[in-house]
Amino acid sequence: MQILKDRIVRDGRVAPGGVLKVDSFLNHQIDIELYNEIGKEFKRIFSDIPVTKILTIEASGIGIACIAAQYFKVPVIFAKKAKTKNIDGSVFTSKVESFTHGKTYDIMVSAKFISPDDKILIIDDFLANGKAVLGLLDIVKSAGAEATGVGIVIEKGFQEGGKMIRELGINLHSLAIINEMDDEGNITFGN
Ligand code: 5GP
Repeated sequence: MQILKDRIVRDGRVAPGGVLKVDSFLNHQIDIELYNEIGKEFKRIFSDIPVTKILTIEASGIGIACIAAQYFKVPVIFAKKAKTKNIDGSVFTSKVESFTHGKTYDIMVSAKFISPDDKILIIDDFLANGKAVLGLLDIVKSAGAEATGVGIVIEKGFQEGGKMIRELGINLHSLAIINEMDDEGNITFGN
């Protein structure tokens, strides 16, 4: 997605440890026009697969998933990063090792929001080592539902997540794949 890649080059900042900061337009301050184009692009890419719900993870995935959902006309569910058991009834849970914070945390979705006949499109802002997506896939599996697609805004192709998720046979599409980035801020895309 060219406008996204242009924006990453213009406003993205490479931080130590292979972290790309895009907080001026994607995940802190938000450029809603760009989000809207991202939502449309996900709808174009996933137009021929069944989607009954979009699943994401708090916090950065929520806004992107909501704008995309307006094009799919389906509800959004976000997995909560569990600090308390303050959620009614039974839940599907999984564990996620955080790339940016280096900790493992539990995620949960109330069992009443995913049923076996659901066709789930997973959406997130970044794909790095793939742990967040694996956790979401695990929740979909626990519910007996089907993950029909995974849509990622920025995939860091130099980390293992994309390869691993594709090898599982998952229908994964990323709007921008970064093959290389260096401390001088040079970014090379793979798509
Ligand atoms: P993974 O689970 O694939 O290793 O990492 C994905 C999650 O880590 C995303 O939900 C995202 O919030 C965060 N993340 C991973 N890499 C980056 C990065 O380079 N920049 C930012 N801002 N977040 C990242």
